Amino acid sequence: MGSKGIIIRVSGPTVTAGGMVGARMYNRVVVGEAGLLGEVIRLEGDLATIQVYEDTTGLSLGEAVIDAGEPLLAELGPGLLTSIFDGVQRPLDVIRQEEGDFIGRGGVVPALPRTKPWPFVPTVKRGDPVSGGDVIGRVAETPRIEHRVLVPPGVSGKVTEIHEGSFRVTDTVATLDNGTPLALMQNWPVRTPRPFREHLSPTLPFITGQRIFDFLFPVAAGGTAVVPGGFGTGKTVVEQTLARYAQADIIVFIGCGERGNEMAEVLADFPELVDPASGRPLMERTVLVINTSNQPVAAREASIYTGITIAEYYRDMGYRVALMADSTSRWAEALREISSRLEEMPGEEGYPTYLATRLANFYERGGRVACLGSQERQGSVTIVSAISPPGGDFSEPVTQCSIRVAGTLWALDADLAHRRHFPAVDWKRSYSLYMNSLEDYYRRSVAPDWSDLRKRMMALLQQEEELQEIVQLVGIDALQDPQRITLELGRILREDFLRQHAFSETDASCPMEKQYWMLKVIFDYERLCQDLLKKGRPVEEIFGLPIREELGRMKEIPVAGFIDRAKDLMARMDQEREREAG
Ligand code: ADP
Repeated sequence: MGSKGIIIRVSGPTVTAGGMVGARMYNRVVVGEAGLLGEVIRLEGDLATIQVYEDTTGLSLGEAVIDAGEPLLAELGPGLLTSIFDGVQRPLDVIRQEEGDFIGRGGVVPALPRTKPWPFVPTVKRGDPVSGGDVIGRVAETPRIEHRVLVPPGVSGKVTEIHEGSFRVTDTVATLDNGTPLALMQNWPVRTPRPFREHLSPTLPFITGQRIFDFLFPVAAGGTAVVPGGFGTGKTVVEQTLARYAQADIIVFIGCGERGNEMAEVLADFPELVDPASGRPLMERTVLVINTSNQPVAAREASIYTGITIAEYYRDMGYRVALMADSTSRWAEALREISSRLEEMPGEEGYPTYLATRLANFYERGGRVACLGSQERQGSVTIVSAISPPGGDFSEPVTQCSIRVAGTLWALDADLAHRRHFPAVDWKRSYSLYMNSLEDYYRRSVAPDWSDLRKRMMALLQQEEELQEIVQLVGIDALQDPQRITLELGRILREDFLRQHAFSETDASCPMEKQYWMLKVIFDYERLCQDLLKKGRPVEEIFGLPIREELGRMKEIPVAGFIDRAKDLMARMDQEREREAG
C-alpha cells in the first residue's frame, strides 16, 4: 500500500486528492468511502489528479483516497476466453447477476473466477530450467483453445515442484528453486507492452476471406488496418465478418460505444455467432471488452489498454490474435473529455496534443513476434481499428493520426454504401503498405502471377473510372469498342468480384485460391472479348454471350470444386474463340 490522501475536488470523472505523498503516475487508487477504482493521471507535489472508472456522483470532499502502490493490472489466465469485460476488466455478466443491470460501484469482482477448477497438464518437469515466457503446462480453456501457462516475464529458475491436476487460477501449480510460486494466472500492468524476444518482419498476410482486402489492400499478420467510415458504411459488419472468417486463433473485440444500443447489439450478437471453422460458438476463442453507455468515460479510455494486454498475452502463447476496436474514435473522445477536465491546452478540435502519440503507442503494440522464452514460438497481434469520423470527414484528427501510423487503410465510402455496394471500400483512397513484403508469400503460396493480376486489376479500375467520366460528359457513343470492353470489365470487377455479401452462405468468405481463379476467369473473358472484336464481332453481340452471365454467378459456386468449374469456363471461352477462327 502507498500513501493515503483526501479528496479536495471532484470534476466529473476526475478527482483531485491532496496529501498523496509518494504516489506515482498511473498508480491504481481507491477513491472515497464507496471504494471507487481510479488511476493517477497527473501529479504535482502531493496533489494527485485521478481518473475514476466509476460514477463519481455522491463523492464528498474530505473522503479518503488510498494509493494501491501499483499500476492498473490485467488478470491473465484461463477463463479469459468467452468472457465479457468492461474497460477495467470487470466481468460484466457476473456484475450484472450480482447487482442487476446497472453496474454498481466499488464492487470488487475479480476478472477471472476464483473458484473454478481447471485441469492442468505440466509440460516441464522437476529440475528443468525455465525463464519468462516459457510454457510450463497447458489447460484446455475451451474445446478449441489450449491455454499455455506461461512463466511471467522477468521470472526464472529451476522447477523444484510441479503438479498435474485440478487447480484454481490462484493455486500454486509449480515452484522454482528461488522459492517463486507459479500459478495459472499472472498480472500485468495494462499500460506497459508485454515483452517479446524479437519483432518479425510483416511477411505473412492476415487472410480475411474478403476479396477486396486480400487481393487489393492486404494487411500483414501483426500489421494494422484502420477502417474509417461514416455512420452506416459497414464498419461493424467488417469487424464482425473478420472476427468470424479471418485466419486468427483468438479474437479480442474492444467495443467503445457512445450510444447504449450500439453496444447492446454487440452484446446480443457476439455470443450468438458461430465459428464457421468449427461450428462451435465463436466466443470459445473470443474475449469481449465492452463499454456500455452508462459507464464513465475513463473506463472507455482504459479499455483499449485492457484489450491489447489480453491480446499480447495470447500472442505470447504463440497464437495469431486479431484485435478489433470499434471504434477508436469513441476512445479518443474519452481522452478529449478527460483532457478538458484537466484543463490541458487543447490541440486540434479540442483533442489533447498527445492524441497522435497515444494512438501510435497503441498501434505499436501490434506486431508479429518471436515470443519471449527459451522455446521457439511465434505469435502475432493484428489490429483492425474502426474509426467513426463525424460526418464521414476523414480530415479530422483521429482519422488523420491513425492513417499516419497504420499500414493499411480501408476507407469506407458513404456513396458505395448508399448504392449497397458492400464492402463499401473506396479503392481509390484505400491502400496497403504491406504489398512489397507480402509479395513473396503470394507468389509461393497462391500463384506466381498473383501480383501481376492485382496490378492489372488496379489499372483497369482506374481506366474504368476515367472512361466513366467521359461517358457522363458525352455519352457512351463517344467510346470506341476496345474502350467499351474496358468499361464492361471494370464493371465486372466491381460487381462480380469486389462486391461480397457478408450474409451470403457461400460468399461471406472466399479463400485465396478461389479469389485467384475468379480473377483468372474474368481476365480470360477480357481476352475473349478482345479476340472476338478483332475478328469483327460487334460488342453488343460479344457482351450477349451466355458466358457473361456465368461470371456473375461465380461467387455463389461453392469453394469445393470451384477450380474445376473455373477451368471449365475457360475451356468454353477457348471453344468460342475456335468457333470464330473456324
Ligand atoms: P457502421 O458500423 O459503419 O455504422 P454497419 O456495419 O452497422 O455500419 O452497416 C450498416 C448496414 O450496412 C448493415 O446493417 C448491413 O445491412 C449493411 N452492410 C454492411 N456491410 C455489408 C456487407 N459486407 N454485406 C452486406 N451488407 C452489408
